[in-house]
Amino acid sequence: MSVIYDKVALIGLGLIASSMALAMKRGGLTGQITGYARSRETRDIARELDLCEVCETAQEAVRDADLVVLCVPVGAMEQVMQDIAPALKPGCTVSDVGSVKKAVIDAVGPHVPAGVHFVPAHPLAGTEHSGPRAGFATLFDNRWCIIVPTEGSDRAAVETLEALWRGMGANTDEMDAEHHDLVLAVTSHTPHLIAYTMVGVADDLRRVTDSEVIKYSAAGFRDFTRIAASDPTMWRDVFLTNKEATLEILGRFTEELFALQRAIRTGDGDHLHAYFTRTRAIRRGIIDAGQDTDAPDFGRTPVHKT
Ligand code: NAP
Repeated sequence: MSVIYDKVALIGLGLIASSMALAMKRGGLTGQITGYARSRETRDIARELDLCEVCETAQEAVRDADLVVLCVPVGAMEQVMQDIAPALKPGCTVSDVGSVKKAVIDAVGPHVPAGVHFVPAHPLAGTEHSGPRAGFATLFDNRWCIIVPTEGSDRAAVETLEALWRGMGANTDEMDAEHHDLVLAVTSHTPHLIAYTMVGVADDLRRVTDSEVIKYSAAGFRDFTRIAASDPTMWRDVFLTNKEATLEILGRFTEELFALQRAIRTGDGDHLHAYFTRTRAIRRGIIDAGQDTDAPDFGRTPVHKT
C-alpha cells in the first residue's frame, strides 16, 4: 500500500491510538507517526513498545503533521484541541475516534483554526482493555469506521481520511452526527449500560455467593462481565455526552422488559417464544454480515481441568 499521509500525530496513546499506529505501520500508510500522552508512564510504555516517536508535549507532536487524531476520552477532547490549535500546520486535517459524535463536534469544532480541516470519525472496534499495551494491528480489520463530516467539511480531506481507515483494514461509511449517536445508543451504549447493571445486580444479590457467581458464570453472566470491565472514564463520558439517544433507547428497553416480565408472570409462553425467535434472527444477521463468529461459546477455547 502507498503512503496516505506523510506525518500522522496521535494524541492519547491508549488502546485505539496504539492499534492505529500498528495498523498504519502494517499497511505502510504513513511516513512518520508521532504521539503524545499526558502521563509520563504511558509515554514511557509507548517508547518501550516503539509504537511511534513519542513527544513530551502535544504541540510538539502535532507540529508539521498532515493528520492529527484525537484519541482521548470524549470529555477531554475540547481541552486537547485548545492546547494543540496554535501548533497545527495550515491545511492539515484534525480527526478523532470518540464514541460520541455530536458532543465532540460541538466541543472541538469551535477551536479548529481557519484553514484546518475537521473530519470526525469513530471506529466501531474495541476491547475491554485500555492503554498502549492493549493495542493490536488487526483491531480494525473488517470492522466499520463511521466518518461524520461536519458542515463544510472538505471533500478531499474526507476521502483521504477514509482511504487511511480502509488501509487500516476497516470498511467506511458516512453518517451525520445525530444519526450516528442514535445508532450507537442501540448497538453499543445501551448494551454496555445493561451489562454494567446486570453485573451490579449480581454483586448485590446476597443469596447467591460470590464464588457461585464466578463458578457458574459461563451460563451467560460471563459475557456481561467482559463488557462491564470496560474503561470507567470512557464510559462515564459516553453517557454524559450521548444523553438524549441513550435515554430514548433505555425508555424503549424498559417498556419491552416490562412486557417480558408480564409474559413470565402470566405464563404467556407464545409471547416469549415469538420474542426469542425474533432475537435469534438478529444474531443470525450479525454472523452473516461477518461481524461475529458462529462458533459455540464465541469461539472460546474450552478450559479442561487436568
Ligand atoms: P484508553 O486506552 O483509556 O486511552 C486513553 C488515552 O487518553 C490515554 O493515553 C490517556 O493518557 C489519555 N487521556 C485520558 N484522559 C485524558 C485527559 N483528561 N487529557 C488528556 N489525555 C487524556 O482509551 P481508548 O480505548 O483508546 O479510547 C480513546 C477514545 O476512543 C475515546 O474517546 C473512546 O470513546 C474512543 N473509542 C474507544 C473504543 C473502545 O472500545 N475502547 C472504541 C472506539 C472508540 P494517560 O494514559 O497518560 O492517562
